[in-house]
Amino acid sequence: MERYDVVVVGGGPAGFNAVKTVRELHPGRRVLVVNDREDLQIPCALPYVVSGVLSPEKNRYPLQKVKEMGASLLIDRVVSLNPSDSSLFTSGGKAISYERLILATGWVPRRLQVPGGKLQNIHYIDTATPAVEEFVRKVKEAKKIVLIGGGFISVGFADLISRNMPGKKLTVVEASPRIASGVFSSGTLKEMEETLKKQGVEILKNEKVVGFEGETSVEKVVLSSGELEADLVFVFIGFLPNTKLAVDAGIATERGFIKVDRFLRTSADNILAAGNCIYHTSAVDGDFTPGMVASVSARDGRIAGANVSGPQVEDTGIVPAGVTEVGGKFYGFAGYTEELLQRKEFSFKEVTVTSADAYPMALNANPLTVRLYFLKNGRLVGGEVIGESKIVSSTVDFLSSLIAAGKKAEELLSLVTVAFPPVTPPPLLQPVQEGALLFLKEES
Ligand SMILES: Cc1cc2nc3c(=O)[nH]c(=O)nc-3n(C[C@H](O)[C@H](O)[C@H](O)COP(=O)(O)OP(=O)(O)OC[C@H]3O[C@@H](n4cnc5c(N)ncnc54)[C@H](O)[C@@H]3O)c2cc1C
Repeated sequence: MERYDVVVVGGGPAGFNAVKTVRELHPGRRVLVVNDREDLQIPCALPYVVSGVLSPEKNRYPLQKVKEMGASLLIDRVVSLNPSDSSLFTSGGKAISYERLILATGWVPRRLQVPGGKLQNIHYIDTATPAVEEFVRKVKEAKKIVLIGGGFISVGFADLISRNMPGKKLTVVEASPRIASGVFSSGTLKEMEETLKKQGVEILKNEKVVGFEGETSVEKVVLSSGELEADLVFVFIGFLPNTKLAVDAGIATERGFIKVDRFLRTSADNILAAGNCIYHTSAVDGDFTPGMVASVSARDGRIAGANVSGPQVEDTGIVPAGVTEVGGKFYGFAGYTEELLQRKEFSFKEVTVTSADAYPMALNANPLTVRLYFLKNGRLVGGEVIGESKIVSSTVDFLSSLIAAGKKAEELLSLVTVAFPPVTPPPLLQPVQEGALLFLKEES
C-alpha cells in the first residue's frame, strides 16, 4: 500500500488550493492529489468558450501545476474510503494510506427526471475539454436552443450566445418567477430581462419542463403549458454536492452536504473537507447558506490545507457573492438579497446610489450603481453593484468584507478608500459611503 502524509481527493479549486497551501505551509509533507479526469476546462469561463469568444485551448484548467508544487498527481477515481485504518481505494486498483485526507469532491449537475430525457442533443454541463469542444460545435450548428433553468449560469450562456451568435432562436425556461437565481432586486432583474429580450432571448418564467420529444435527437421541449421546438437543449437546473464517497464511508452530512466544524474537519478522524461538497454557514447569522462557487471553494481549500497539522485557520462563515454579465454590463451582489431578507422577514431598508466608476473628467467614466441593504439597527447585510467595468467585482468584494465584519452605517462613514481619477469613483461620491449617509439621513 502506498503511503502519503496528505491525500487530496479532487483537483478542482478546493483541492488545488489545499495542495498549494499544504506545500507552502507544511513543505515537508508528501502530498498526493487524486482526480478522476485529466483534461478539464475552467468552468467559470465556459459561457465565453461555448459562445465562441474564447477557445477551449485558452481555457484549460491547470491541474498539472500541482506537480510543479511538489505534489504527486494520480488520474484515477477514488471508489471507497476506510476511515478506521486511514486508507482509500481507486477504480484503477490502487490502495493508498494517508495520515490526513482532504475531500474536495465538488459538485455534480442536478438531473431533470422527465420522459425523453435521454434523447440526443440534451446536455448537462460537463467541464471535460472533449465535451466542451462538442458543445462549441453543436451551439454553432444549432438553430433553436433551449436553456432549461434561468439561474446565473444559464443567464450567462443566454447573454453571450445571443450577443456573439446572432440568428439563433434562444429560449430560457425558468420554473420560478425570477431569473438569475433571484439574487438581484426586482428592478435589476427587470433590467437584465429587458436587455436579454432586446438581444432576441425569449424568457419563459413559471414554466415547468415535463418532457422531451423527438426521434433520436430532441425536437421538442414539452412544457406544462405547451411545446417549444428545439434542436439543442442545455439543462442548468443547479448543482448538487458530490458526497457519495463520504456518505458511503459513514461521514456525517447535513442537508446533503458534508458536515464540517469550524476548522473544516469532518466527523471522521483525520479527514477534512472543502469546497462545493461541504455545508457552509453565513457570516451574518450562522444560518445555512449555499456556497457553491469557485471563490468559496478556493478559500475553503486554503483553510483545509492550513489545518492539516491541527487547527490554525478558522472558518468564520461566508458571505455569498457573485458577478455576472448581461449585455456588456456587470451585475454583482454580496450578502443577503432582497428576496432572502423578505423570506427571513427581516425588517430592512434599501438605499440606492449612482456614482461613477472613475472621476467624471476621466475618459470613459461610466455610471456605477450601488444598492445597499441595511437592517433597522444600521447593520449592512447585503448589496448589489451594477456597472460597466472591473470595478464592479472589487466593489462587491469590498461590500462582502464589510458585511462579514458586521459593519454598521455610521462605521462606514469613517472608512478610508483609495481615490485615483482613472480607476476609482470620485471620493466626493464614494458610493458605499454615500449609501450609508443616505440610510442615516432617512432613518434620522
Ligand atoms: C458554467 C459554470 C460557470 C461557473 N461560473 C462561476 C463563476 O463565474 N464564479 C465562481 O465563483 N464559480 C463559478 N462556477 C462554479 C465553480 O465552477 C464551482 O463552484 C467550482 O468548480 C467548485 O470547486 P470544487 O473544487 O469545490 O469542486 P470541483 O470543481 O467540482 O472539483 C472536484 C473535482 O473532484 C473530482 N472528483 C470527484 N469525485 C472524485 C473521486 N471519487 N475520485 C477522484 N476525483 C473525484 C471531480 O471530477 C472534479 O474534477 C461555475 C460553474 C459552472 C459549471
